[in-house]
Amino acid sequence: MTRRDILKTSLATFLALNASSCASKRSTPINKQSINNKNPKIVIVGGGWSGLSVAKNIKKFVPHAEVTLVEKRDHFVSCPVSNPWLFDMVNLDFLTHSYIDAAKNHNYTYVQASASGLDTTNNILKTTQGDIEFDYLVFALGIEYDYNEWCKDDQELEKQLRLNYPAAFIPGSEHLSLKRKIQNFKSGNFVLTVPPGNYRCLPAPYERACLLAEHFKTNKLDAKVYLLDANNKITIKEEGFSTAMKELYSDYLVYISDAPILEFDLKNKIVKTDFDEIKFEDASFYPRVKSPKLLEDLGLTIKTPYNRVEANLDHYTNQFVGYKNIYGCGDIRPMGFSKSGNTAYTEGENVAKNIANTIYNKPSKWVSPITVCISIISQHPDREISLVSQYKYGKNGETNFNGTTTDEAWKTNTLGAQKAQFSWAQSMYDSMFYG
Ligand SMILES: Cc1cc2nc3c(=O)[nH]c(=O)nc-3n(C[C@H](O)[C@H](O)[C@H](O)COP(=O)(O)OP(=O)(O)OC[C@H]3O[C@@H](n4cnc5c(N)ncnc54)[C@H](O)[C@@H]3O)c2cc1C
Repeated sequence: MTRRDILKTSLATFLALNASSCASKRSTPINKQSINNKNPKIVIVGGGWSGLSVAKNIKKFVPHAEVTLVEKRDHFVSCPVSNPWLFDMVNLDFLTHSYIDAAKNHNYTYVQASASGLDTTNNILKTTQGDIEFDYLVFALGIEYDYNEWCKDDQELEKQLRLNYPAAFIPGSEHLSLKRKIQNFKSGNFVLTVPPGNYRCLPAPYERACLLAEHFKTNKLDAKVYLLDANNKITIKEEGFSTAMKELYSDYLVYISDAPILEFDLKNKIVKTDFDEIKFEDASFYPRVKSPKLLEDLGLTIKTPYNRVEANLDHYTNQFVGYKNIYGCGDIRPMGFSKSGNTAYTEGENVAKNIANTIYNKPSKWVSPITVCISIISQHPDREISLVSQYKYGKNGETNFNGTTTDEAWKTNTLGAQKAQFSWAQSMYDSMFYG
């Protein structure tokens, strides 16, 4: 079996897809309001990797459109490159960008507000800053955490996990808390988890574990990372991560597959899996992910083979099923693409193109998003591994990788020397905010 075959096999878990939900469906228009294609009002909710891409590209494809980006935050902080930031490889400025710059440079309007409701009969988005009319609406809301599997109805447990052991897979306070935890950590076990399902950024938990193990090693701490993986093996770039764990970090990193946490004893700081009880000094527990509650409340979600709650999108057009002028993209999607920034950005470009074609009365053809994922294995010296892939749908509608290339030869490749992850990220920030 070649390295590429191994990689494909490990990814297959994430790519088997509910055929019925994937089949191309003609959306039934239920909006009563007519759509103005002469001076279309296009509203995008969510200024992350996908929403920023839609906003920029729709202005490129339909220059006369009135484009509004509704984003609840007042500035952008990147999740990509946040693992290196935890270990002081870049400063916060590198990750932080201004929505004002994005709107000014790409000639659209940025409204800082939270979307809170939707009137589909009159094409009105409800926000904390008032109602906004639209002809086309795009939801690009990213993820929320789904603690249900761990906590069931135990709200106190969920509160304790969120407060004391935040996952840090959504940018903001969680990342600041995790960085402080790492800086203050003196000795003992530090537990990290990999969730099941199609979670945000497949390689990020492994990258974070490697960098944390390197931090313990470099600072000669009597400490170990316990990486508890709910999956039966490393979900992506398996050869690169597994060889790094064995050859670089065997004294500092314990990787356990098939190890979903079944019980939390937070008082005694113990987690239990099927076979192990692990005592920990500190931890960051990454639960399953889901689409944001707003979409659930609006009745715009479905259950998929990956996650309990994902956006109910047509897999070919990105329109919400039943709506001709409401689209969704990015990590909310139900398709089996990797929930990652490059995928979200290129999918956003495709959605912008679809909307433009509709406005100009042209047909659209499905185009695959592109996943580019570069992970850092160590910083002394800088060693990196990468994967680039597109996708195709199988006969039964399942999602498969298409034309995947990987470079997991961290001992000999030049990705680290080129600082490939930072170069890629810089080019994406330039495109979303400045270019
Ligand atoms: C540690 C880490 C490392 C990663 N590394 C990489 C990497 O190297 N490469 C890569 O390609 N990807 C990486 N990713 C994944 C990447 O960050 C996500 O896949 C990407 O952010 C998804 O884009 P999105 O637009 O769907 O969601 P987001 O980027 O999360 O954007 C969603 C936006 O919607 C806003 N929003 C939500 N609800 C509302 C509302 N009601 N009203 C208004 N605004 C709202 C949010 O504030 C947010 O700004 C990484 C992620 C993490 C956590």
